[in-house]
Amino acid sequence: MPELPFIQVLVENLAREIEGHTIVSVRVPSPAIVKTFDPPVSALAGRRIERVRRIGKLIVSDLSDDLLLVMHLMRDGRLQIARAGSAARKGRASPAPKPMAFGLFLEGGDELRVNEAGPKKRAGVYVLRAQDAASSEPLAGLGPDPLSEQFTADVLARAVQAEPGQLKRAITQQRHVVGIGNAFADEILWEAKLSPFAPAARLSSDEVARLYAAIRSVFAAALQKHRTRFGTQLPTREPVELLRVHRHGGEPCPRCRTRIETVYFADKETYYCPACQTGGKIYADRRMSRLLK
Ligand SMILES: [Zn+2]
Repeated sequence: MPELPFIQVLVENLAREIEGHTIVSVRVPSPAIVKTFDPPVSALAGRRIERVRRIGKLIVSDLSDDLLLVMHLMRDGRLQIARAGSAARKGRASPAPKPMAFGLFLEGGDELRVNEAGPKKRAGVYVLRAQDAASSEPLAGLGPDPLSEQFTADVLARAVQAEPGQLKRAITQQRHVVGIGNAFADEILWEAKLSPFAPAARLSSDEVARLYAAIRSVFAAALQKHRTRFGTQLPTREPVELLRVHRHGGEPCPRCRTRIETVYFADKETYYCPACQTGGKIYADRRMSRLLK
Protein backbone atom coordinates (compact mmCIF):
# COMPACT_ATOMS: atom_id res chain seq x y z
CA MET A 1 0.00 0.00 0.00
CA PRO A 2 1.55 3.33 -0.99
CA GLU A 3 2.21 5.35 2.15
CA LEU A 4 2.19 9.08 2.70
CA PRO A 5 5.79 9.94 1.66
CA PHE A 6 5.29 7.98 -1.57
CA ILE A 7 2.07 9.85 -2.33
CA GLN A 8 3.65 13.20 -1.40
CA VAL A 9 6.53 12.72 -3.85
CA LEU A 10 4.08 11.43 -6.45
CA VAL A 11 1.99 14.59 -6.07
CA GLU A 12 5.02 16.91 -6.19
CA ASN A 13 6.27 15.29 -9.39
CA LEU A 14 2.82 15.00 -10.93
CA ALA A 15 2.21 18.69 -10.28
CA ARG A 16 5.31 19.57 -12.29
CA GLU A 17 4.02 17.47 -15.18
CA ILE A 18 0.35 18.40 -15.40
CA GLU A 19 -0.33 21.71 -13.64
CA GLY A 20 -1.41 24.32 -16.15
CA HIS A 21 -2.40 21.73 -18.75
CA THR A 22 -5.90 21.38 -20.15
CA ILE A 23 -7.71 18.05 -20.28
CA VAL A 24 -8.73 17.27 -23.85
CA SER A 25 -10.63 14.03 -23.33
CA VAL A 26 -11.17 11.18 -20.91
CA ARG A 27 -11.29 7.42 -21.35
CA VAL A 28 -12.37 4.89 -18.78
CA PRO A 29 -11.45 1.29 -19.63
CA SER A 30 -12.60 0.19 -16.13
CA PRO A 31 -15.85 2.09 -15.49
CA ALA A 32 -16.03 0.80 -11.90
CA ILE A 33 -13.09 3.00 -10.97
CA VAL A 34 -15.33 6.09 -11.25
CA LYS A 35 -17.17 6.47 -7.95
CA THR A 36 -19.28 9.55 -8.76
CA PHE A 37 -21.80 10.17 -11.53
CA ASP A 38 -22.74 13.85 -11.15
CA PRO A 39 -20.85 15.70 -12.55
CA PRO A 40 -20.04 13.03 -15.17
CA VAL A 41 -16.40 12.27 -16.06
CA SER A 42 -17.05 13.82 -19.47
CA ALA A 43 -17.23 17.17 -17.61
CA LEU A 44 -13.43 16.92 -17.15
CA ALA A 45 -12.84 17.60 -20.84
CA GLY A 46 -11.90 21.21 -21.49
CA ARG A 47 -10.93 21.93 -17.85
CA ARG A 48 -7.54 23.30 -16.97
CA ILE A 49 -5.57 21.61 -14.16
CA GLU A 50 -4.87 24.57 -11.87
CA ARG A 51 -3.22 22.80 -8.97
CA VAL A 52 -2.34 19.30 -7.79
CA ARG A 53 -2.21 18.63 -4.06
CA ARG A 54 -2.45 15.86 -1.49
CA ILE A 55 -5.01 15.32 1.24
CA GLY A 56 -3.84 12.32 3.26
CA LYS A 57 -3.27 9.66 0.61
CA LEU A 58 -5.72 11.25 -1.82
CA ILE A 59 -4.44 13.01 -4.93
CA VAL A 60 -6.56 16.10 -5.50
CA SER A 61 -6.52 18.19 -8.68
CA ASP A 62 -8.24 21.58 -8.61
CA LEU A 63 -9.67 22.22 -12.06
CA SER A 64 -11.03 25.32 -13.74
CA ASP A 65 -14.75 26.03 -13.31
CA ASP A 66 -14.64 24.84 -9.69
CA LEU A 67 -14.34 21.14 -10.37
CA LEU A 68 -12.20 18.72 -8.37
CA LEU A 69 -10.72 15.46 -9.54
CA VAL A 70 -9.79 13.15 -6.66
CA MET A 71 -7.80 9.96 -7.18
CA HIS A 72 -7.36 7.29 -4.52
CA LEU A 73 -4.81 4.69 -5.54
CA MET A 74 -5.55 2.26 -2.70
CA ARG A 75 -3.22 -0.75 -2.75
CA ASP A 76 -2.52 -1.37 -6.42
CA GLY A 77 -3.36 1.84 -8.28
CA ARG A 78 -0.38 3.64 -9.87
CA LEU A 79 -0.01 6.72 -12.06
CA GLN A 80 1.83 6.88 -15.35
CA ILE A 81 2.33 9.57 -17.95
CA ALA A 82 2.32 8.09 -21.43
CA ARG A 83 4.13 10.53 -23.67
CA ALA A 84 2.75 11.67 -26.97
CA GLY A 85 4.40 9.68 -29.74
CA SER A 86 6.02 7.11 -27.40
CA ALA A 87 5.64 3.36 -27.87
CA ALA A 88 3.34 3.32 -24.85
CA ARG A 89 1.11 5.87 -26.55
CA LYS A 90 -0.02 4.82 -30.00
CA GLY A 91 -2.87 6.97 -31.36
CA ARG A 92 -5.88 8.02 -29.38
CA ALA A 93 -8.01 5.43 -31.14
CA SER A 94 -5.79 2.54 -30.03
CA PRO A 95 -7.25 0.24 -27.38
CA ALA A 96 -6.32 0.96 -23.77
CA PRO A 97 -3.40 -1.21 -22.64
CA LYS A 98 -3.78 -3.37 -19.54
CA PRO A 99 -3.87 -2.61 -16.65
CA MET A 100 -5.03 0.91 -17.48
CA ALA A 101 -8.26 1.82 -15.70
CA PHE A 102 -8.61 5.55 -16.37
CA GLY A 103 -6.93 8.06 -18.65
CA LEU A 104 -6.81 11.79 -19.23
CA PHE A 105 -5.53 13.03 -22.57
CA LEU A 106 -3.84 16.37 -22.05
CA GLU A 107 -3.21 19.20 -24.42
CA GLY A 108 0.08 18.38 -26.13
CA GLY A 109 -0.75 14.68 -26.42
CA ASP A 110 0.45 13.16 -23.13
CA GLU A 111 -1.95 10.89 -21.30
CA LEU A 112 -2.15 10.64 -17.52
CA ARG A 113 -3.15 7.09 -16.69
CA VAL A 114 -4.34 5.33 -13.58
CA ASN A 115 -3.16 1.73 -13.91
CA GLU A 116 -4.37 -0.94 -11.54
CA ALA A 117 -2.81 -4.38 -11.65
CA GLY A 118 -3.86 -7.22 -9.37
CA PRO A 119 -7.19 -8.96 -8.94
CA LYS A 120 -8.72 -6.58 -6.41
CA LYS A 121 -9.85 -3.38 -8.13
CA ARG A 122 -10.13 -0.85 -5.35
CA ALA A 123 -8.71 2.38 -6.74
CA GLY A 124 -11.22 5.22 -7.06
CA VAL A 125 -11.67 8.35 -9.15
CA TYR A 126 -14.09 11.04 -7.99
CA VAL A 127 -15.31 14.12 -9.86
CA LEU A 128 -16.67 16.69 -7.41
CA ARG A 129 -17.90 20.26 -7.43
CA ALA A 130 -15.58 22.36 -5.27
CA GLN A 131 -18.42 23.62 -3.06
CA ASP A 132 -19.55 20.05 -2.22
CA ALA A 133 -16.11 18.49 -1.91
CA ALA A 134 -15.52 18.85 1.83
CA SER A 135 -18.79 17.09 2.65
CA SER A 136 -18.48 14.37 -0.02
CA GLU A 137 -16.74 11.02 -0.18
CA PRO A 138 -13.80 10.54 0.00
CA LEU A 139 -12.94 13.91 1.58
CA ALA A 140 -15.65 14.10 4.25
CA GLY A 141 -14.67 13.64 7.88
CA LEU A 142 -10.90 13.54 7.45
CA GLY A 143 -8.66 14.77 10.24
CA PRO A 144 -5.70 17.12 9.72
CA ASP A 145 -2.73 16.07 7.64
CA PRO A 146 0.34 15.08 9.70
CA LEU A 147 2.59 17.28 7.56
CA SER A 148 0.34 20.35 7.89
CA GLU A 149 0.44 23.25 10.35
CA GLN A 150 -3.06 22.33 11.51
CA PHE A 151 -1.68 19.15 12.99
CA THR A 152 -0.39 20.31 16.39
CA ALA A 153 0.56 18.42 19.54
CA ASP A 154 -2.76 19.55 21.06
CA VAL A 155 -4.71 18.09 18.15
CA LEU A 156 -2.89 14.79 18.64
CA ALA A 157 -3.45 14.84 22.41
CA ARG A 158 -7.21 15.35 21.96
CA ALA A 159 -7.32 12.61 19.32
CA VAL A 160 -5.63 9.92 21.42
CA GLN A 161 -7.57 10.86 24.54
CA ALA A 162 -10.85 10.41 22.66
CA GLU A 163 -9.85 6.97 21.40
CA PRO A 164 -10.90 3.89 23.38
CA GLY A 165 -8.71 1.47 21.39
CA GLN A 166 -5.05 0.62 21.08
CA LEU A 167 -2.52 3.27 20.14
CA LYS A 168 -1.70 1.95 16.69
CA ARG A 169 -5.36 1.84 15.80
CA ALA A 170 -5.83 5.39 17.13
CA ILE A 171 -3.14 6.96 14.98
CA THR A 172 -4.36 5.17 11.85
CA GLN A 173 -7.95 6.43 12.24
CA GLN A 174 -8.39 8.90 9.40
CA ARG A 175 -10.76 11.09 11.40
CA HIS A 176 -7.97 11.85 13.90
CA VAL A 177 -5.11 12.39 11.48
CA VAL A 178 -5.22 11.52 7.82
CA GLY A 179 -2.59 9.48 6.00
CA ILE A 180 -0.75 7.46 8.66
CA GLY A 181 -0.88 3.96 7.20
CA ASN A 182 -0.01 0.56 8.59
CA ALA A 183 3.70 0.69 7.76
CA PHE A 184 4.40 4.22 8.97
CA ALA A 185 2.40 3.68 12.16
CA ASP A 186 4.96 0.97 13.05
CA GLU A 187 7.88 3.24 12.12
CA ILE A 188 6.48 6.13 14.19
CA LEU A 189 5.69 4.04 17.30
CA TRP A 190 9.17 2.49 17.18
CA GLU A 191 10.75 5.93 16.89
CA ALA A 192 8.64 7.15 19.85
CA LYS A 193 9.40 3.96 21.87
CA LEU A 194 5.68 3.41 22.43
CA SER A 195 3.75 0.16 22.36
CA PRO A 196 1.32 -0.24 19.45
CA PHE A 197 -0.92 -2.16 21.86
CA ALA A 198 -1.04 0.45 24.66
CA PRO A 199 -4.47 1.97 25.39
CA ALA A 200 -4.37 5.27 23.49
CA ALA A 201 -6.45 7.17 26.05
CA ARG A 202 -3.93 6.45 28.83
CA LEU A 203 -0.92 8.09 27.20
CA SER A 204 0.84 10.58 29.47
CA SER A 205 1.52 14.09 28.18
CA ASP A 206 5.21 13.20 27.85
CA GLU A 207 4.30 10.21 25.72
CA VAL A 208 2.00 12.30 23.53
CA ALA A 209 4.83 14.80 23.03
CA ARG A 210 7.17 11.96 22.03
CA LEU A 211 4.57 10.56 19.65
CA TYR A 212 4.05 13.96 18.05
CA ALA A 213 7.79 14.51 17.59
CA ALA A 214 8.11 11.02 16.08
CA ILE A 215 5.28 11.61 13.57
CA ARG A 216 6.99 14.78 12.38
CA SER A 217 10.55 13.44 12.30
CA VAL A 218 9.76 10.04 10.75
CA PHE A 219 7.81 11.60 7.90
CA ALA A 220 10.40 14.34 7.37
CA ALA A 221 13.21 11.78 7.11
CA ALA A 222 11.17 9.46 4.88
CA LEU A 223 10.21 12.31 2.56
CA GLN A 224 13.84 13.24 2.13
CA LYS A 225 14.74 9.65 1.26
CA HIS A 226 11.82 9.28 -1.13
CA ARG A 227 12.74 12.52 -2.92
CA THR A 228 16.32 11.32 -3.32
CA ARG A 229 15.17 7.91 -4.50
CA PHE A 230 12.64 9.03 -7.09
CA GLY A 231 14.00 12.37 -8.28
CA THR A 232 11.49 13.81 -10.74
CA GLN A 233 9.89 10.45 -11.60
CA LEU A 234 6.39 9.34 -10.66
CA PRO A 235 7.08 6.61 -8.10
CA THR A 236 5.51 3.25 -8.89
CA ARG A 237 7.24 0.86 -6.50
CA GLU A 238 7.03 1.44 -2.77
CA PRO A 239 10.61 1.52 -1.41
CA VAL A 240 9.99 -0.81 1.54
CA GLU A 241 13.74 -1.13 2.09
CA LEU A 242 13.68 2.43 3.46
CA LEU A 243 11.56 1.23 6.41
CA ARG A 244 13.44 0.38 9.59
CA VAL A 245 11.05 -1.86 11.53
CA HIS A 246 8.00 -2.59 9.42
CA ARG A 247 8.60 -5.71 7.27
CA HIS A 248 11.79 -6.41 9.26
CA GLY A 249 10.43 -9.16 11.50
CA GLY A 250 13.12 -11.46 12.93
CA GLU A 251 15.86 -8.92 12.24
CA PRO A 252 17.72 -7.00 14.97
CA CYS A 253 16.21 -3.70 16.15
CA PRO A 254 18.29 -0.88 14.58
CA ARG A 255 18.52 0.76 18.04
CA CYS A 256 19.09 -2.07 20.54
CA ARG A 257 19.62 -5.22 18.42
CA THR A 258 16.71 -7.09 20.07
CA ARG A 259 14.76 -9.27 17.62
CA ILE A 260 11.85 -7.42 15.95
CA GLU A 261 8.57 -9.25 16.64
CA THR A 262 5.49 -9.45 14.45
CA VAL A 263 1.77 -9.69 15.19
CA TYR A 264 -0.59 -10.51 12.35
CA PHE A 265 -4.13 -9.31 12.76
CA ALA A 266 -6.69 -9.34 9.97
CA ASP A 267 -4.57 -8.43 6.92
CA LYS A 268 -2.46 -5.94 8.86
CA GLU A 269 0.92 -6.84 10.31
CA THR A 270 2.41 -5.00 13.25
CA TYR A 271 6.18 -4.98 13.82
CA TYR A 272 7.71 -3.81 17.08
CA CYS A 273 10.79 -4.10 19.27
CA PRO A 274 9.89 -5.74 22.61
CA ALA A 275 12.84 -4.08 24.38
CA CYS A 276 12.23 -0.55 23.06
CA GLN A 277 8.44 -0.56 23.00
CA THR A 278 6.62 -3.10 25.15
CA GLY A 279 8.73 -3.46 28.29
CA GLY A 280 10.00 -6.84 27.09
CA LYS A 281 6.54 -8.29 26.49
CA ILE A 282 6.10 -10.40 23.34
CA TYR A 283 2.53 -10.47 22.12
CA ALA A 284 0.93 -13.64 20.81
CA ASP A 285 0.80 -13.82 17.08
CA ARG A 286 -2.93 -14.46 16.74
CA ARG A 287 -2.55 -16.02 13.34
CA MET A 288 -0.09 -18.57 14.72
CA SER A 289 -2.17 -19.26 17.86
CA ARG A 290 -5.22 -19.86 15.69
CA LEU A 291 -3.31 -22.34 13.54
CA LEU A 292 -2.03 -24.21 16.60
CA LYS A 293 -5.48 -24.76 18.12
ZN1 LIG B 1 14.91 -2.00 20.19
